[in-house]
Order: sequence, then C-alpha cells, then structure tokens
Amino acid sequence: MTSLPRRRLLGAAAAFPFAGVAFGQALPLTPECGARAAPTPRQTEGPYYTPNTPQRSSLVEPGSKAERLTLTGRVVDAQCRPVAKALLDFWHCDENGEYDNAGFRYRGHLFTDAEGRYRLETIFPALYPGRARHIHVKVQAPGRRILTTQLYFPGDARDSLWRKELEVVMEQRPQGRLAAFQFIVDA
Ligand code: FE
Repeated sequence: MTSLPRRRLLGAAAAFPFAGVAFGQALPLTPECGARAAPTPRQTEGPYYTPNTPQRSSLVEPGSKAERLTLTGRVVDAQCRPVAKALLDFWHCDENGEYDNAGFRYRGHLFTDAEGRYRLETIFPALYPGRARHIHVKVQAPGRRILTTQLYFPGDARDSLWRKELEVVMEQRPQGRLAAFQFIVDA
C-alpha cells in the first residue's frame, strides 16, 4: 500500500477528533462524556474469558467470509479527557455463535493512541441462544481498575443484560458494518 490512503485516514481522524473514524467517514459516538456523563456500566465477564490474548488490531481470520465489523471509538474520563495507552481486551463468538476456548480466535487486545482512540477490525458476531448479540471487553486505564463489560447492537434488546448505555452506534457501509463506542472510565 502507498502512504497516501493512510495519510488521508489520519487526516480524517484529525478533522473529527471526537468521532470514531473508519473508511474515511466518521460516526457520532455514544454515550457522550461531560457534565451528564456516567461511567460505562460494568457487566458480567461470562464464562468464556481467556487471559493473555495476543496484541492485535484485527481479529479477522485468514480467508473468513464472515461479515466484517469495524469497531472504533475512544476511551475518555468523565471530563472528556482522552485516556492514552488504555488497554482494550476484546472477545466474542464467531459467525456460528461459538467461542474459541482452546485458542485465541476472536480474542485480542490493543491500546488506545495519544488521543484515546482505538480501532478494531473483526467480524459481526453471531447471535447465540439466550443472549442479545454482544462483544465482551475489558478496559483498563493505565494503572487503574479493570472495567469488564459488554457492547450491544442497536435495537437488539432481547435479553435482560442488554443496556442502552452499552449500545454501539452502527451503520452499514459497502465494506461491512461500522460501529462506534466511547468508553467513559475512571482514569
Ligand atoms: Fe458472550
């Protein structure tokens, strides 16, 4: 790849510093930080967390035909200050609703940049029985307590764990789904 598309993306990120940026266009982030901001709610880890995940920004398996999901956003504190080098450790089920409990398929962690931004390339996780569609995540500002929670998809309130405050913004784009979420943490 030449450096030009990358430079264009970085330019878009600079123009929309408070938004999730992917495919050169931004999505609004929710929830908002600031005066009325509540910290991102904690939720159960569930039975399938595996520690020591690989550090990577793409969980897409080679040759996967599954629908792509790009999840972007920021980690900020309640005063909207970006949290740099925050850890985000993601795990979710595959396109058949199965978790890889032996290896690291659809598991990985990354760190936010100096503006608190993150970007994860993955697949749209399947629905599995008894749950709203979700992505598990652990978020940790440097040196602070781990926040374990789950992200949900718009209008998918099909179980008692689903919460509006944990709903991503999502749009269908030609390249796949683009979602955004802003984590508000104690930093
Ligand atoms: Fe789960």
